[in-house]
Amino acid sequence: MTTSEVQVADFQLSPKLLEFQQKVRNYAKDHLGGAAVYDAETEFPREAVEVAGKLGLLRTTVDEEYGGSAMGNLASCVMLEEINAVCVSTGVTISVHNSLVNSLLGKWCSHEQKARWFPKLVTGEWLGAYCLSEAFSGSDAAALRCTAEKQGDHYILNGAKLWITTGSEAQLFVIFARTSEDRVKGISAFVVEGSWDGVSVGKKERKLGLRGSPTTEIVLDNVKVPADCLLDTEGNGFTIALDTLDGGRLGIASQALGIARAAIDMIGEHIASQQDKRGRPSASQPIQWEFADLASDLDAYRFLTWRAATLRDRGIRCSTEAAMAKSCASRLANRAARSAVSLLGLAGATGTNPAERLLRDARITEIYEGATDIQRLVIARGLLA
Ligand SMILES: Cc1cc2nc3c(=O)[nH]c(=O)nc-3n(C[C@H](O)[C@H](O)[C@H](O)COP(=O)(O)OP(=O)(O)OC[C@H]3O[C@@H](n4cnc5c(N)ncnc54)[C@H](O)[C@@H]3O)c2cc1C
Repeated sequence: MTTSEVQVADFQLSPKLLEFQQKVRNYAKDHLGGAAVYDAETEFPREAVEVAGKLGLLRTTVDEEYGGSAMGNLASCVMLEEINAVCVSTGVTISVHNSLVNSLLGKWCSHEQKARWFPKLVTGEWLGAYCLSEAFSGSDAAALRCTAEKQGDHYILNGAKLWITTGSEAQLFVIFARTSEDRVKGISAFVVEGSWDGVSVGKKERKLGLRGSPTTEIVLDNVKVPADCLLDTEGNGFTIALDTLDGGRLGIASQALGIARAAIDMIGEHIASQQDKRGRPSASQPIQWEFADLASDLDAYRFLTWRAATLRDRGIRCSTEAAMAKSCASRLANRAARSAVSLLGLAGATGTNPAERLLRDARITEIYEGATDIQRLVIARGLLA
């Protein structure tokens, strides 16, 4: 599909979505006040995630038949912008759980598999993790080496997954492993439960940002995985991984929008606090121009994100549109956070001010779920195809 063929021009959220947005905004105000502490102490926001589960925020991409709210991708984007404007560590936990794990299971699992795992995932009793990356396969995901060898009615999984979000907190892992040597068709997807023999949490990364979200290694040492934990068919894992990432990228685009919004709000408050004797803004014109440009881009990229989400909700492939949303929103988050730090001077560069945290968090949005350069390749390929 070329961009000119895409027809989505409803710029108003429905009353139901506006109500949901307000509910999430209240949740963020009432339960995410610890964001600075989670960052400083590298502490997982356990209580905040538990409350999110109770409020139904961990089931937006699950069908009602399995206990979900079936609100979909647009609702998830609206929700994730609100949460990430306050706490990215909670935001990424919820994004991965909904956009990478629940949506993947919803699309690629059998009825029996969904009935088995969703009851625990929709309440947050279990958290999910998505395990694609390895030491030598980040951007080049098809280079993964983790193996799954079929033995009778089960598979034996071996290898190590790296940089896994929620790795030390999750109970359910979607693992991509090699069932044959074929670079792409040799990859299959499995559900592995954290309590099984041979599954362990390895090294925990010390990160620039998102410090309340644990990013860990997941080690698989001769893990015996029943054959009924294979997702879809053997050899379809890479298709599943990439299709799921389209939705995941919308989650990260929304995270970036949240970060950008928080930074732009700080800049706006700073400008508003500087007034001349007649009560007019006294900030210099270049500062006001930057504020105006950032706020305009925020609106534009939000629509880019919501367009892609709407396409996905309609079952239309949105790889190009999702990559546009993520690459634009994540670069905006960095620009806005950098401007906030610069404008506030020394205050912006110290840990007592959220601006420096926003800048550190923003950097990550340009790396994971496909680095910006990879998004640009996806966009170019999509448009030229
Ligand atoms: C905080 C965090 C959480 C993460 N969570 C997860 C998770 O839950 N599950 C998971 O599976 N993975 C996760 N990852 C891994 C993440 O998806 C990878 O870091 C990402 O795909 C980039 O891979 P890489 O780090 O190996 O960088 P590389 O692939 O080495 O890329 C580094 C840079 O090289 C350039 N580059 C690479 N290849 C190309 C190319 N073909 N063309 C042009 N430029 C290129 C890009 O500029 C890129 O930024 C996480 C990463 C982080 C930082």
